[in-house]
Amino acid sequence: METSSRRSFLKKAGMGAAAGLSLGALCRAEKIGEKEEPFLSARPITGKVIDAHCHIDPESIKRCIETMDNNLIHYGINIGMTGDESFYPFMTAAKPYQNRIGTMYAFDWSLMKNDPDFFSKAPDMLTRAVEAGAIGLKSFKDLGLMARDRDDALVHIDDPRLFPIWERAGALNIIVAFHTTDPKAFFEPWNPQNERWKELELHPGWSFADRSKYPPRDAVLQQRNNVIRRFPRIKFHCCHVANNPEDIKTVSKWMDELPNLYADIAARLGELGRHSAKDGQAFFTRHQDRILFGTDRMFFTGGDIQGAGPLKRFTKEEDHWFYQVHWRYLQSHDKQFEHPVPIQGDWKIDAIGLDKKILEKIYWKNAYQLFRLDRFGVA
Ligand SMILES: [Zn+2]
Repeated sequence: METSSRRSFLKKAGMGAAAGLSLGALCRAEKIGEKEEPFLSARPITGKVIDAHCHIDPESIKRCIETMDNNLIHYGINIGMTGDESFYPFMTAAKPYQNRIGTMYAFDWSLMKNDPDFFSKAPDMLTRAVEAGAIGLKSFKDLGLMARDRDDALVHIDDPRLFPIWERAGALNIIVAFHTTDPKAFFEPWNPQNERWKELELHPGWSFADRSKYPPRDAVLQQRNNVIRRFPRIKFHCCHVANNPEDIKTVSKWMDELPNLYADIAARLGELGRHSAKDGQAFFTRHQDRILFGTDRMFFTGGDIQGAGPLKRFTKEEDHWFYQVHWRYLQSHDKQFEHPVPIQGDWKIDAIGLDKKILEKIYWKNAYQLFRLDRFGVA
């Protein structure tokens, strides 16, 4: 098919998609020809989506909403403003957008070392943040990997000194989100043979290969799971496919064992799509009630990020492409196409073609219920 006629087909098919034409048909049509076209006609078949994992600073809220509007993201969760000094100004700036943006509070874990009263004060700090509108508590990856106490000892995620914080989150009826460790490759030697070398070369600080400085990845993931097991009434939102997208069979076992473990897929389509379509489908189908759509799109004053990679300002088309690869992975049956965060690795991914019923949960219902978004008039 000539490029122009392919485009006109896509245009028609795009309109057809709303009337029930399958996205798979669209994707197949698009792949005819040598070069992959940007995926300009795909849309989430459920019409609207919650992005349960993005990052926004106070000056970038308007740009974020605009990008969301252009890509059928109806609600975005700003996953963690760290420390009172960044959380409260953001809440003030985001007040007019309560039905579009929710925000999690994140502790500045360096206070464990720098504030002698941190452990006794922390639960009340969380209460105050929730009173100011926090919809969850986020723990960034420094907990477990780097954050130390007054004695300069690494604080484990399942340290009992932190239990009152998790208990307070439970009493406040908010979820706890964990970003724990990082991709497997970041724990392997920092050299050009590393499969994530492009990313590590750009961010040498993301390498946790030095065992004299950093604990092993599996041990830290287990500490997180210990907390989830110990507090069964609290719901835990585990970012990036519970930070183990390389091994979805293990994540699946964790989710079987821990019914309060939820997982977002932010910035991990590259890993998810490396599994066979069959394994990917099995994972999403089995855990369809506890998987959350997310992108890790970051909106910052100094430049934006799509999942990972250098800071830049993305054009409308680049953003369109980024979100569309997500729809393509979840909705089509395409094979071997580029994943949305190319810096994460040179391989291609296979889509998993989920049913509309499952997509409705992943795009909308799961996050809506988990964060009780009816409170904010989100509809
Ligand atoms: Zn993130």
